[in-house]
Amino acid sequence: MSKKKHTIVILGGGFAGMYAYRRLYRYFHGSREVSITIVSKNNYFLFTPLLHEVATGSLAEDHIIESIFSAIECCDNRLLVDNILGVDLARREVILEKNRLKYDFLVVALGAKTNFFGVKGAEEYAIGLKDISDAKKIKTFMTKSFSEAQMMKGKEAIRKKLTFTVVGGGPTGVELVAEMQELINTTYRAYFGEKLVNEAQVTLIHRGKELLERFHPEIRKKALQVLRKKGIKVNLQKEVVEVKADEIVFTDKESIPSALTVWAAGVTPVSIAFSPEIKKEKDNRLIVRSTLAAWDYPEVFVAGDMMSMWDERGTSQPIPQTAQAAVLEGELAGENVYRIIKGRELQIFRYQSKGALVSLGQWMAAGEIHSVPFFGHFAWWLWRTVYLTKIISFKKKILVALDWTANLFSPRDISDITTLNKRGSLKKKVRGK
Ligand SMILES: Cc1cc2nc3c(=O)[nH]c(=O)nc-3n(C[C@H](O)[C@H](O)[C@H](O)COP(=O)(O)OP(=O)(O)OC[C@H]3O[C@@H](n4cnc5c(N)ncnc54)[C@H](O)[C@@H]3O)c2cc1C
Repeated sequence: MSKKKHTIVILGGGFAGMYAYRRLYRYFHGSREVSITIVSKNNYFLFTPLLHEVATGSLAEDHIIESIFSAIECCDNRLLVDNILGVDLARREVILEKNRLKYDFLVVALGAKTNFFGVKGAEEYAIGLKDISDAKKIKTFMTKSFSEAQMMKGKEAIRKKLTFTVVGGGPTGVELVAEMQELINTTYRAYFGEKLVNEAQVTLIHRGKELLERFHPEIRKKALQVLRKKGIKVNLQKEVVEVKADEIVFTDKESIPSALTVWAAGVTPVSIAFSPEIKKEKDNRLIVRSTLAAWDYPEVFVAGDMMSMWDERGTSQPIPQTAQAAVLEGELAGENVYRIIKGRELQIFRYQSKGALVSLGQWMAAGEIHSVPFFGHFAWWLWRTVYLTKIISFKKKILVALDWTANLFSPRDISDITTLNKRGSLKKKVRGK
């Protein structure tokens, strides 16, 4: 008698989803025991740690994405490109736009989206940095602003046109402003001249007392010094209450002009409907046991930015929402699905950080390993080397390395195919809605 084939469905083709797949593929490749379906709204895996380099013309957009089709490779496995609406936990079905998909085991790994914290005008007038389309909009807008400023009269008007602001002093905000300034100092200087570059202002706004609050104190200090030395204005302890088309307003009623506002101030988990309702944190992350199984559903695993792990006494475990953690969680979710199928004991998730790195523009980065901070050219070399090794395919590793090498000898590529509306406005229209 033939055994029943197990249907495994993975929701999300990001870090956690793809690494869950890779673990399952390793075990079941060539066997007929399971069929695996990845469902994702995009047919590509996005390497987010290099997104700020696409936004600033250092890397080509298609060099930091990987086709999920090519990652799937074989067997009874497939990718469904669809929008996931919810999960019917009682019937063990995933609810898609037009279909329902049955599962025996489910890995939920839909990640997080930009959190605008309900700040007035932020969703409307600021853009996040979560996807390729966001990165393209930033580059397009900055380049268009410089192009238009060439024809403008009046210092004040030109200055306002060239104000670029990032809200959020975590690693994403810090890496982005550093590269924006590099783009201005190198490529825009070459194409648009010294006079315009001198009028441009990149500003970083942060609510906290220090940048990079989760990093070593030495790194926080160093990052602030490096950014300010580059000419970036860093405004600490400033809370945004409103984002307007060309302005940012703070709680103390002060305001600054901002032609482009990028919102890098936080994320919130992607929300889909569960029926019956599943156990969640106040911030909407799904609560899992230390095996990464959903609290009341042992056939459902959750990994990545969407999950919050509790120990058996119900105490929440602090695990960062990073790619580093998502990869390990994805692997463990895949491992435990395999172990259930094989009737083996489940493994427990234990997170140990391998260290953290943050780039601070060309030739400068900071990092810490086992709480020991380090800075400078070596950190920058390490940052690039680590990320190069983390890119999944050999082909994309080569392409990224070539982009970086070409940038040493020539200006960045600021051409693009994004269609801006006639008024050249980034807001609303360029957001693609
Ligand atoms: C700009 C930026 C830089 C970062 N830099 C670093 C870094 O240097 N180091 C680090 O460790 N971490 C970094 N991170 C954090 C890291 O990207 C996340 O922690 C990681 O991506 C989480 O993995 P995940 O699998 O949970 O989600 P994701 O990787 O975001 O994957 C989610 C997947 O779900 C899909 N999806 C979502 N909603 C739906 C839906 N409704 N229907 C269908 N599919 C859907 C998405 O298309 C995607 O494929 C960075 C993040 C950003 C935005």
